[in-house]
Amino acid sequence: MKNNKLVIVVSGPSGAGKSTILKSLPEEEFYFSVSHTTRSPRPGEVHGKHYYFVSEAEFLKMIENHEFLEWVKVYDTYYGTAKSEVEKAFSQNKHLVLDIEVVGATRLKSFFGKNAVFIFIAPPDLDTLKHRLVSRGTEDEEKIKKRLERAKTELLFASWFDYVIVNKEIDESIKEFFSIIKAESLKPFRNPDFASILETL
Ligand code: 5GP
Repeated sequence: MKNNKLVIVVSGPSGAGKSTILKSLPEEEFYFSVSHTTRSPRPGEVHGKHYYFVSEAEFLKMIENHEFLEWVKVYDTYYGTAKSEVEKAFSQNKHLVLDIEVVGATRLKSFFGKNAVFIFIAPPDLDTLKHRLVSRGTEDEEKIKKRLERAKTELLFASWFDYVIVNKEIDESIKEFFSIIKAESLKPFRNPDFASILETL
């Protein structure tokens, strides 16, 4: 990663509003990592855009070939970030954004170190989360129950992150997200204007 580009790792329970916030980021500046998964596509999800939907055999082959930067198995489903996603962001000179769960996030911390920023998106409360999952209508009751249980575990990880956005009101959360990006891009080791000044000394 060029040192003035960010790796932004975003985690938080399903239904907390991660994807709505991420949709507000301009594609000219941000490259959205597309994960591989063995789960079936939800209505409207497109192969190669939302995920690479692969069979379990294909996923296991990729693990064997060391093609993943990180991978996890949750709810009997595999999810993983291919190393090639980082290369794509790098070649396009964009910030890399990864929407992954907390265990994968901790693995990326060891890989990217201070080049990455870790942001946790939390729902205002569990009732709101449940309501959002039910109204999304993509999971049956059993899966919603599992996701709510996992949400509690994920929330306990939130203080490990660099920042937490509690998504009460989407416009405010988007503003908070951009404030984080702005502040992080002004860190001395990322700020290109500052680097130019140093070169003249
Ligand atoms: P969903 O099935 O709702 O799309 O995703 C379930 C969870 O898997 C979400 O928390 C999402 O962030 C996470 N996830 C998606 N892709 C990856 C990945 O490549 N690695 C990891 N560790 N988690 C992922």
